[in-house]
Amino acid sequence: MQWITEAETRTPVVENTDVLVCGGGVAGVAAATCAARNGAKVMLIERYGFLGGLATAGLVITLGPMNNGINNEIRKTLESSKSYLKCSNLGEATETATLIAVDPEILKYELMGMLLRQNVKLLLHTYIVRTIVENGSCQGVIVENKAGRAAILARTTVDATGDGDVAASAGAPYETAEDLLPVTLMFNMAEVDIDRVMSQIGNWGKLRRVVKEAVERGDLPFDLDLQPSGYAPGVFAANLCYPREINVWSGSLRGINGLDPAQLTRAEVITREHAMRLAAFLKANLAGFEDARIEYTATQVGVRETRRIVGEIMPSFNEVMTQRFSDTVAKPYADREMRVPYRSIVPKDVDNLFVVGRCISAKQDAMVQLRIIPVCFATGQAAGTAAALALKEGVSPRELNVALLQENLMAQGVDFG
Ligand SMILES: Cc1cc2nc3c(=O)[nH]c(=O)nc-3n(C[C@H](O)[C@H](O)[C@H](O)COP(=O)(O)OP(=O)(O)OC[C@H]3O[C@@H](n4cnc5c(N)ncnc54)[C@H](O)[C@@H]3O)c2cc1C
Repeated sequence: MQWITEAETRTPVVENTDVLVCGGGVAGVAAATCAARNGAKVMLIERYGFLGGLATAGLVITLGPMNNGINNEIRKTLESSKSYLKCSNLGEATETATLIAVDPEILKYELMGMLLRQNVKLLLHTYIVRTIVENGSCQGVIVENKAGRAAILARTTVDATGDGDVAASAGAPYETAEDLLPVTLMFNMAEVDIDRVMSQIGNWGKLRRVVKEAVERGDLPFDLDLQPSGYAPGVFAANLCYPREINVWSGSLRGINGLDPAQLTRAEVITREHAMRLAAFLKANLAGFEDARIEYTATQVGVRETRRIVGEIMPSFNEVMTQRFSDTVAKPYADREMRVPYRSIVPKDVDNLFVVGRCISAKQDAMVQLRIIPVCFATGQAAGTAAALALKEGVSPRELNVALLQENLMAQGVDFG
């Protein structure tokens, strides 16, 4: 490989804050909101021009119930804007599931409102490129944006990048899956006559079969070899908040490492091609799709999992679903047993740093539950609150009295069951 040496450069420090939240997905927004509510001066950095991460940019807009802690608050906000509605489910595999459809544009707006009401300082259109670490303690990050390169210093940092970019750059240990989960491009279609479609196929799950058979007959040029089994041919759909609108999961692609931009580029090229072909096929072949069109595709292909940052515990699926950890700090659902311990949001080996959302410390099998949006909101709430409390108490995150944190979370309405 060829290399170049860049000139040494002086980087201006443009901000100095108490709590710095890196990434404005659902976990980051919850962390920033709760840190600010607990008295910290908070800044949040995000690469896009809006908030929500995969929930908005990835068009992941069908959710499970939101009924504990900060999830209650989000649900009430979305209900009052009429964009939290029961939607018809995805079909065959999940026929009895109750799903909620949210409007991604309302979600973007409401998440931003939450931060602005708490006086969180926002810096959008900004990419975090490196973590500043001194003597094993996180001191903030280096960012790049249209203004160039700058340093942002913080007493405590929350890694909400979903990929653990900040923790990994700080030297925290992490794991990645050997068997990569598929990535998926989501899109919405408008002007679908849902009753006519249903009268032919019965439920949305059957769409998969219709597509698979068409591909096998040669009627739809759609590369089934690219599809992971279980997702093949990667087509699900659900009715949404609004009449005649559906959300389609299309073109799941296997073997893509979400940390490799060249592989992500390939995924965008292939899944976007598949989305267009699929929409054209449905329009031409299924009654009810005659007037349908792609309303919008996700801003980015959806990456389910990359790094899992290692904390003092890496619970398994069975453990998060059954254990009452003494240091439980997140219980996302009031009516379901599932808990996340504090040790999963504090990375090993680096001080003054939390991880939240889909990159917390857990075994891979647990992530099928832990990456779900209400869980990401809940771990964000726990870490943001903990960050502010640790600063108030004058201790590092690792030294924080977890009983104090649990008490504070209960006062915020978290029911630990
Ligand atoms: C195809 C697919 C289907 C899914 N289905 C469901 C479902 O049905 N129900 C459900 O609840 N969940 C589902 N999930 C999971 C869920 O969407 C995610 O796990 C969850 O939204 C992750 O939230 P997060 O805040 O942890 O991370 P993200 O949403 O990834 O947010 C991270 C944020 O950080 C920003 N960022 C990242 N790196 C940087 C950087 N270096 N500099 C600056 N900003 C950065 C990103 O732009 C983003 O806004 C699905 C996921 C996928 C991909």
